[in-house]
Amino acid sequence: MTETFVVHYSEIALKGKNRPDFVRVLRRNVSRSLSHLQPVITSESGRLLLTVEGDTEEVEQRLATVFGLAWFARAEVTKAEVDQIRAKVMEVAARDSGASFKIDARRSDKSFPLTSAQLAQELGAEVVAQTGRKVDLSHPDSTIHVDILKGQALIYSDKQDGPGGLPVGTAGRVVHLFSGGIDSPVAAWLMMKRGCTPVYLHFYLAPTPAYPLNSKVTKLVKKLSAHSGKTTLILMPFADYQLATFGAPGELEPSLFRRFMRMTAEALAPVLGASGISTGDSLSQAASQTLWNLRAFDEGSSLPILRPLLSYDKEEIVALARKIGTYEQSLEEYKDCCAIVTRHPRTRVKPDAISEYVRVLGLRKLVTESIEHGTLVTYNPTTDELKSVPLREGLHLQEVLPEAEAKL
Ligand code: ATP
Ligand code: MG
Repeated sequence: MTETFVVHYSEIALKGKNRPDFVRVLRRNVSRSLSHLQPVITSESGRLLLTVEGDTEEVEQRLATVFGLAWFARAEVTKAEVDQIRAKVMEVAARDSGASFKIDARRSDKSFPLTSAQLAQELGAEVVAQTGRKVDLSHPDSTIHVDILKGQALIYSDKQDGPGGLPVGTAGRVVHLFSGGIDSPVAAWLMMKRGCTPVYLHFYLAPTPAYPLNSKVTKLVKKLSAHSGKTTLILMPFADYQLATFGAPGELEPSLFRRFMRMTAEALAPVLGASGISTGDSLSQAASQTLWNLRAFDEGSSLPILRPLLSYDKEEIVALARKIGTYEQSLEEYKDCCAIVTRHPRTRVKPDAISEYVRVLGLRKLVTESIEHGTLVTYNPTTDELKSVPLREGLHLQEVLPEAEAKL
């Protein structure tokens, strides 16, 4: 069945020169989320109109994943003529439930012969006469919306909340440190909510990339790609790192490893076109995430480090993970997760201690050497195609790594 949806975006983000770009990307993202149904999308007076043939519930579920949508509703469309509008309003009122209602009429086309108030009054009287429902302007059980556009009218009642935020692709790209635990998928979701495109970077200890590739790490990336379209995951082995840092003091291990991850993300950023690094850190959640140890992580970075979960309690993160549907997968067993654990990690690493070990142990060189052994995984949610190639074949590493290493 062919249906039309009216799709509204958040007004706040629309001010100024960015508006056309914002709408263009939003339109692309809506189209991409429904690409298998080949929707027709037009822009009409500050909203999108989507005409699509397919299962209504599926369309609604997919629209609910598109960041930047404030709300959407299945709408009846008719010519902007009073008789035709009245007929459609009666159809909508008939399938609507509740004892009371109100009509919310708006004209973007001021040449329409009735004012919004006159139209609402006339349509309201007709609904009362035909259904016996009561008008309640302050707390109606349902609201029937009538939007008069140029030449056409939209009539709808069931508004559904979109996820809000900004369209993915309008706020740049970040390298997202992705452990596959509970926090990092939620952090990626929040970065996407603000319009960023994450490139996932995961460090693993297994002898080959097959283990992380066939684990919850890839499953979670696939799930999150519903919001962003084609997605990149980089799998980075850290066995060489473990060998190289064998003698380092145990209490510094977590902070040293986290610095190594940050430096790797930074080295990869230029070739990935990323302008920032994001993590699932939450302040003081673990010894490695105290203010002092976050400082040791950030020190020397030329990119902003973004931590969308910084102020979240674990319970709040878990609640969000359940809501966005990553929680169950995050709990799946994955042996690599806690490879770097130490009984007594320092909560206040001295400012220069990590930088000193980076120098003594030659970690800069190790970053670039490790990158040579990375794997590039791409996933296309439209075709469900997953591809993996050695990173050195997939990216032009030679062009950027020497320069990146010099800067680390
Ligand atoms: P999560 O935070 O995802 O639940 P976790 O709690 O086991 O996993 P932490 O030790 O809290 O992980 O790590 C904090 C952050 O460091 C993660 O959210 C993630 O951004 C990054 N991180 C940890 N381990 C890895 C890894 N193996 N690969 C990439 N990033 C990692
Ligand atoms: Mg965590």
